[in-house]
Amino acid sequence: QREEEHFERYQPALMTDGHRIEVVANIGKASEAAAAVEAGAEGIGLLRTEFLFLERDTPPTEDKQFEAYCEMTRALNGLPLIIRTLDIGGDKVVPYLPQPHEDNPFLGVRGIRLCLRKPELFRPQLRAIYRASVTGPVKIMFPMIATLEDLRAAKEIAEQVRTELGVPPVEIGIMVEVPSAAAMAAEFARECDFFSIGTNDLTQYVLAMDRMHAALAKQVDGLHPAVLRMIDQTVRGAQSAGKWVGVCGGIAGEPRGAVILAGLGVTELSMSIPSVAAVKAYLRGISHTQAQTFAKRALACQGADAVRELPLP
Ligand code: PEP
Ligand code: MG
Repeated sequence: QREEEHFERYQPALMTDGHRIEVVANIGKASEAAAAVEAGAEGIGLLRTEFLFLERDTPPTEDKQFEAYCEMTRALNGLPLIIRTLDIGGDKVVPYLPQPHEDNPFLGVRGIRLCLRKPELFRPQLRAIYRASVTGPVKIMFPMIATLEDLRAAKEIAEQVRTELGVPPVEIGIMVEVPSAAAMAAEFARECDFFSIGTNDLTQYVLAMDRMHAALAKQVDGLHPAVLRMIDQTVRGAQSAGKWVGVCGGIAGEPRGAVILAGLGVTELSMSIPSVAAVKAYLRGISHTQAQTFAKRALACQGADAVRELPLP
């Protein structure tokens, strides 16, 4: 146990010039929190709470959710836990929420849009999160935010729930995964505490390519300069209001993506558990200045292939 603490994966991702990137994990189950810490993650940057709601006949109760979140704060032992509120709709459906047919479910009532229409679903989840927040550093994150009205409406419900419970405020952030949120980043940044860029969805919406479409799979690349420019714009917007930006989409877990993101000014990278140690190790081997130079080159490329061919620092 003692010796384990010296393993490289438990050391922070300090770049050679001292710039630090927080490396955290994406999880979708309570039991994965301990595995994430074990793998070297410095917390959880994205908890996909859908796992509590899928493959069931009824929604989980507030208490059941509270227990799951507490199991995670216990395993994390003081490390941060970003809980994303329910993100269903789109391709994810549950039997107890019969959705009217949608011709374009990815452009329909998904994520926060569904929760704002179903307070009987949204409020118990927020209650469970706020109750768990007194057991560790919990943050709340809303998915699929497209407009300032969505954010304001979600925050208003969260604040009602919080005052009902009489617990202290927690940081509230949004997923930036819809191009409108990236375009309006400066405005959003004034009304929330942090951003986490969901490059999986952002890529599908920027390129207008279904992220699940087999025939398009090779082209739906989060390293496309069009996506990187949206990320750049998002970081600048956040910085104008002094807020921090993370990325929890797939490119955060690739060394190439991680270098570009660090160079663009992203300070937290959230990825699947198996990527944590390798990304930390890669970042430790280069300087932030090198990452910035590389990111500039990537932004200037004409397509994703060109970004993938750039020699890594
Ligand atoms: C994303 O869209 O990039 C993301 C991290 O969320 P999900 O993959 O759960 O949609
Ligand atoms: Mg998403």
